[in-house]
Amino acid sequence: MSKFLAGFYQGLSAYVPGEQPRDRKYIKLNTNESPYPPSPKVTAAIAERTADMNLYPDPEYKSFREKAAAYHGVGIENISVGGGSDELLDWIFRAFFQDRGVIFPDVTYGFYKVWAALYGIKYREIPLKDDFTIDAADYTRAEKGGPCVVLADPNAPTGIAAGREAIESIVAADPDRVVVIDEAYADFSTYTSAPLIKKYDNLIVVRTFSKSRSFAGGRAGYCLSSPEIIKDIEFMRFSTNPFNLSRMACAAAEASFDDDDYFRARVADVVRVRDGFSDELRKLGFEVTESSSNFVFARFPGKNGKELAASLRERGILIRRFDSERIKDHLRITVGTAEQMSTLVDALADILKG
Ligand SMILES: *Cc1c(COP(=O)(O)O)cnc(C)c1O
Repeated sequence: MSKFLAGFYQGLSAYVPGEQPRDRKYIKLNTNESPYPPSPKVTAAIAERTADMNLYPDPEYKSFREKAAAYHGVGIENISVGGGSDELLDWIFRAFFQDRGVIFPDVTYGFYKVWAALYGIKYREIPLKDDFTIDAADYTRAEKGGPCVVLADPNAPTGIAAGREAIESIVAADPDRVVVIDEAYADFSTYTSAPLIKKYDNLIVVRTFSKSRSFAGGRAGYCLSSPEIIKDIEFMRFSTNPFNLSRMACAAAEASFDDDDYFRARVADVVRVRDGFSDELRKLGFEVTESSSNFVFARFPGKNGKELAASLRERGILIRRFDSERIKDHLRITVGTAEQMSTLVDALADILKG
């Protein structure tokens, strides 16, 4: 950090994304991207829209919001747009957590802590149970003026879904506090909490095209909430980056909603490969959580996670692991193609033998 950086930021740590390697070709299972390209219709739509590139996009993103609204059966006034869901979460932290602070699980998306620290927001980490499931009761004690809540559901890096009823009980516990459900992986799960926005005006559901819609490189996301909250998020958007979604990202997102068959088929592929791969890991002796996402969270009892990850890297396979004490021996493995997963299973069997 230079001597010029404002004192407030000195000593803070930025989020560390998973590696995007350039040194050689790897089987890349470390950042929860889809192994499949986006639909050919998405690629065609991008090419078409580049013709208008001299013009700014529609700052209201009306056609995109209409498609997202129709997809979820809500109104356009229930939708705001982000250049990826990270951008929306950034605004949400600033707009709604500043006064009351926020709580989230001790094992979850690492970015939550980064935003809280960056904006001087008070936060508390609530330990998950021993099996990494959430105890909804930790979030339903409504204290007057108590903290807001952000939950990834399904959670990352555990892959575990909280369950529809647990989420609703947390949202319903205090109508005066904002509850944010980060649904980056919900398409791989069996439910979404999006319909609850019609019943509760304190809920925000954040969604991304990065994982299930094969569009991590394109940067597109959106959120659903009550019209009042959406107005606040639009206030943040127009106060920072009113043209946050490029014409290309917008065209791609719209085409992705239009090509629902392609999207559903790719999600089904990932879910099928995930479940088969989880079984294979268990057969090898791994402890594997019940994943509702496009990744698997596993540890081999008695094996050092860092060493396992390093051995895989030597064999050309990248997975993600974290240094924090509670999960230091766990591996978070993105679900790739069936072929990639079978290469990985062979490599693990070989490493464990040695
Ligand atoms: C990947 C991810 C995001 C961010 O995705 P974007 O690419 O910014 O849309 C947000 N939350 C969780 C839990 C994620 O895993």
